[in-house]
Amino acid sequence: MVETTYLPVMCNHCDDAPCMRYAGDAIRKRDDGIVIIDPEKARGRKDILGSCPYRAIVWNEEQQVPQTWIFDAHLLDQGWQRPRCQQSCPTEVFEAVKLDDAAMERMAATEGLKVQKPELGTKPRVWYRGLERWETCFIGGSVSADIADAVECLEGAEVTLSQGGKVLTTTVTDGFGDFRFDNLAGDGGMYRVEVAHAHGSVWRDCVLSESVYLGELRLTRLAETKEETAKARPGIAHLVEGAGGGAADSRGAPMLDSDNCRSDMTHRRTSRQESRETNVARILSAAETLCAIYGSGKTNVCDIATYLKMSPANVYRFFPSKLAIYDGLVARVLEDNFPVMQPDSGRFTSAETLREFMLGLHRRVLALMRDEEKIFELLTVADDERWPAFAAHAKRVVNVVAELVEEGVRAQEFRQQDSLRAAECLCASTAALWEPKAIQNLHLRRSLITPEDLISFSVEALRNGPFQCRR
Ligand code: SF4
Repeated sequence: MVETTYLPVMCNHCDDAPCMRYAGDAIRKRDDGIVIIDPEKARGRKDILGSCPYRAIVWNEEQQVPQTWIFDAHLLDQGWQRPRCQQSCPTEVFEAVKLDDAAMERMAATEGLKVQKPELGTKPRVWYRGLERWETCFIGGSVSADIADAVECLEGAEVTLSQGGKVLTTTVTDGFGDFRFDNLAGDGGMYRVEVAHAHGSVWRDCVLSESVYLGELRLTRLAETKEETAKARPGIAHLVEGAGGGAADSRGAPMLDSDNCRSDMTHRRTSRQESRETNVARILSAAETLCAIYGSGKTNVCDIATYLKMSPANVYRFFPSKLAIYDGLVARVLEDNFPVMQPDSGRFTSAETLREFMLGLHRRVLALMRDEEKIFELLTVADDERWPAFAAHAKRVVNVVAELVEEGVRAQEFRQQDSLRAAECLCASTAALWEPKAIQNLHLRRSLITPEDLISFSVEALRNGPFQCRR
């Protein structure tokens, strides 16, 4: 779990500015509220730097003057409607508004805006959204358990935060086992985090002077002894005894029907498998969405994790690397675009079926090139670098073609030949129809050869005749 918070620090153009009180006429406030340092009167006054409690004044060594951000007053005076920072920021982080004090207070109350260090009474004019992320701390962690010989992240575990024995709040872990408590004072207080789930429990104490990630919290089994079993909730006791097998009898604990046990274990294993598949699918969908917008080169694991509101560490639980995610995405795109063989294809000749299959493949890749530019780019890289997903796809194409060749041989439509070798040759000669890198080049060359010409020409080589294909 990684979180980075930035706080842009600038002159707040305070209405009751300590710098003005200190520097005399070297600093003044304009009628529009902008605080200006006079470079002539302030020349050589390095002492002014210490007067700003926000450390917003810097020293210009070359000019020997103290400087601060003057709200781009020189530009506003030329007729600009917005300061340069607002005008240039593509994500619209800055917003300059011209309001009277009452309207500004209302806006701050409505949007949850805050100023820095209000306790100083300097009346700053720069308001921040989300300042609590800078001023407060969080406690986070990731919950896992040993389940069927594998460590799995645990969704739906109840997590309680308490202090001095008093419960402050509770939450549950998300699909990746993550939890988080926000807006906590980093005042050195001691907190306890307790996690409870049918698979067990775990707790941690921490002292909070800055945000804390507790790391992976692995659950341990509850109620291992008869006494503990008696104290534990019945549902949990059954799980423990079910896993414990024969030992349960010797301890006098409730016996479970072994068939029911097996069925329960199978059921849980199946749901865990489903949960894993769901998480893998979510990650791939996020990668596909971001890749379609920004391209794979500009989308990393952190971007995907942020999009899913989870930690990068959890993404890595399902995929060992960014490349593995994109390889999975390539496999999914290729699978979704693999031509479906018609069940009634028997009424067509093998040559016709083969032709339709290759042209179907061609049309789908062509559509991706036309409609999904960045996803197509990803496919060209996967093709160029022969990623495992693309290599598997190419093998699948060859195998389908080999089956069709064999059918053609059986029907005496094609001559006797090594069907796999013939399929490899046909796929290589028609690469411009289905391999993204080649299809791109064919498109760029604006070739006069149509896809139909190319596949018909290649299929002809399979028919009865003098052609020999040797290894
Ligand atoms: S932020 Fe600092 S420099 Fe700017 S007006 Fe306030 S006290 Fe002066």
